Formats: sequence, C-alpha cells, structure tokens
Amino acid sequence: MLQKKEVYLFANWKMYLDHEESVVLARTLNENQKNFPPHVNMAIFPSALSFTDVSSELDTNSAIKIGAQNIYWVEKGGYTGEISAQMYQKVGASYALVGHSERRHIFHETNHEIREKIKNALEIGLTPVICVGETERERNDNLTDDVLEIQLRACLEGVAWNDSIRLFIAYEPVWAIGTGVSCDSVEVERVHQIIKEIANNILPNCDPILLYGGSVRAENVVSFLNQENVHGVLVGKISTSFEQWQEVIKKVS
Ligand code: PEP
Repeated sequence: MLQKKEVYLFANWKMYLDHEESVVLARTLNENQKNFPPHVNMAIFPSALSFTDVSSELDTNSAIKIGAQNIYWVEKGGYTGEISAQMYQKVGASYALVGHSERRHIFHETNHEIREKIKNALEIGLTPVICVGETERERNDNLTDDVLEIQLRACLEGVAWNDSIRLFIAYEPVWAIGTGVSCDSVEVERVHQIIKEIANNILPNCDPILLYGGSVRAENVVSFLNQENVHGVLVGKISTSFEQWQEVIKKVS
C-alpha cells in the first residue's frame, strides 16, 4: 500500500496529440482535477503548438501546472523554429524538460546545449526538469552509474544554482522509454541513490526531487513510488489517454 507522500506525476505528451486532442485532454483534466488527491503534484507538457490553448483550458489557480517540452536559451532573435524559455514563461510555464533522451538521441542535443538551457531557465526562474539515462548498450556494459555521473557533471558543475528553484532530475533509461519494458523498481531506487549522491556532491545540500520515467503505467506506478528516493514519475505515451492517466492517478490515491 502506497504511503501518502507528496508525489509528482509529470505527463510528457511529446508529439502524440494534435492540437484539438491536446485541448480536449487539457479540458478533461481540468474538469476532473477536483477528484485528484492533494498529495499529487501534476504537470503536463503539451506540444509547443498547443501550449497556450492548453494553458487557457486550465483554471487560473489550477493545481495542474504546465511545462515546455523543450526550450532555447536565447531570449529573442533569429533562431528559426525555436522558442525561448522566456516566451514559455510569459504564457504560464512552470517547468521545462531539458535533455530528454529523444532530444539527445534523435536531435543530437549535447550536454553543452543542455547546460545552456538549464542556466537560462535558472536565470529567469523557470524550473528545469533535467533528464538523464543510459542506453541499453551502456547498461549491458555496466556503465550506467558512470554515464549518469558524466551527464550530471556536464550539465550542473559550475552552474550558479538559483536557490529558489528545486532541482528536478528525471532518471529515464533510454531502453525503457516507449518500449513497454520498465526498469525494475529496486534498481531504480539504487540508481536514484547514486544520482542523489552525485547531485549533492555537485550542489551541496540540493536535496533533488527524483522522478523515474520509462514505460510507467497503472500496473507498475506504485512499485516505483513506494521506493524512498522516487518522488514521482515522468510518463509519456499513457499520459495522453485520459482513461489510462486516470488509472495511474487512482493507484497513487
Ligand atoms: C518519456 O519519454 O519521458 C517516457 C517516459 O515515455 P514512456 O512513458 O512512453 O515510456
């Protein structure tokens, strides 16, 4: 039985929903939020296209927060196709995903770029959710802990942290994302302890909020959240179906 600790349920809608579907899902979530338990902190990450209309569907003081799937680190200028952290913040973003494995692997985003995004988000007071994780090959080669340390050090070392912002780190093993194969919850706890140690080493006393992501669903969400150092989950595919997302929320209730 899950104890009533504060949990974070973050929904990354990726590019799964078109504009109308995004707006309808936001409306449905907004209408149903009175039924969501108070210990659940929910955030949704719609596409850039639908961000403002999704935001408008949420009540002004909604408990559901909204975040960007990606940001650019320069405020304004000739950067075709990009959207800055400032632009998102002005239309209500509380969070921004940075370093998601799809950005790292499909769009070849580097640790240097991820670091620039983190620095910019911190400067303007937008909370970055820093995604890290190893590939299947790296796991098979026993490199998980090393890879995480390299990613975290490259993104965080020497960054002037804004103390009014909590450090969010999402551990998302690449091999578990969108595959239906999730990481074992005991292993997630082990990895989260390592991440916490590394993060506290880089930013003393930062006390990070640690999310797990990778094929989370109603059947396994409690196994993760029951772990001491798992404070929440970052969920992709199934968060785009109200019915399946509601099942996840029910399990956490
Ligand atoms: C994600 O991409 O952040 C993710 C965890 O995806 P999924 O839940 O679909 O595995």
